[in-house]
Amino acid sequence: MKRRNSRKIKVGNLVIGGNSPIIIQSMTKTDTKDLKATINQIKELEDVGCELVRVALVDKEAALCISKIKKEVKIPIIGDVHFSSEIAKIALEEGIDKIRLNPGNIRNQNKLKKVIILAKKLKVPIRIGVNAGSLNKKKYSLPTPKNLVSSALEYISFFEDLNFFDIIISLKACDIYTTIEAYKLMERKTDYPFHIGITEAGIPNYGLIKSAVGCGILAFLGLADTIRVSLTAPPVEEVIAAYQILKALSLRNYGPEIISCPTCGRCRIDLFPIVAEFNKELQKRYSFFKLNNLNSFKVALMGCEVNGPGEAKMAEVGIACGKSGAVLFKKGKIVRKIHEKEIIETLLEEIDRVI
Ligand code: SF4
Repeated sequence: MKRRNSRKIKVGNLVIGGNSPIIIQSMTKTDTKDLKATINQIKELEDVGCELVRVALVDKEAALCISKIKKEVKIPIIGDVHFSSEIAKIALEEGIDKIRLNPGNIRNQNKLKKVIILAKKLKVPIRIGVNAGSLNKKKYSLPTPKNLVSSALEYISFFEDLNFFDIIISLKACDIYTTIEAYKLMERKTDYPFHIGITEAGIPNYGLIKSAVGCGILAFLGLADTIRVSLTAPPVEEVIAAYQILKALSLRNYGPEIISCPTCGRCRIDLFPIVAEFNKELQKRYSFFKLNNLNSFKVALMGCEVNGPGEAKMAEVGIACGKSGAVLFKKGKIVRKIHEKEIIETLLEEIDRVI
């Protein structure tokens, strides 16, 4: 997989684009003015490894909360602004790390210019977020990939005319084909980093699968610089999903990956509860999301001695089950036979040694 060579944009203490890791972000679902709830939600997100968080700035009072929120949290904050240049200006003065704008809904161009000039002075980047749902209907009758790109390019040239280049782009639609085609077209037009996501993906599980397909393809094509999974669910689930999408593509690593077989008629051990219990223990013992950039390694739990040993040998640690027990493999070599009851504890001990 070859990653697109995007330019680097600084957001707080992070860098989005270039060869930086794909940054995982989410959005709070609290009323931003409810400081306690918003700060708590951001802390929950930090605990699962969220690296950048967006808050909705619905009114000036919400924008005036930014400095107070920033004092309590570690990760950079993006202000999500629609319709009002005043809100954007307050957020900038409050120390926001990045602004997300849909320039199309700030109708007064002079006011928009003032926001861009202030952002430039304060070195705050802006995401130009073009959404299929909010495309200028007078100009673009349908939200086709071409129209999404044309609309974004128009905004980009408006920003560039003001010597503003700290731009991140998103072209979102809830339709996977439109989204992917739009990013592919945009790739040829600009090197600004891409924020990717499938908007309004819905509730888990379908929303997770839809996001995994859409974001997975974009990331596989090398078009992702930052990712937000949008789910009708608590934001922590969005972050975990984003990690899992990137982990499945080996684009972000955080500790062990479980390889387990689906089982079949050859399996002579009750593997489902063993794998479920092992996974639970693993999550309990290690906060993997905090182990970013730790070398990824595989732990295999395989159901039989036919296909099991092959996978178990390829993993850092693995077992291939037989009747009432399993053979333990480490770095491709057989270590010993273990009883069914020892499987979980033995694998955890081995992982402790690796970590
Ligand atoms: S590893 Fe063995 S038990 Fe598991 S699916 Fe393959 S053949 Fe079946």
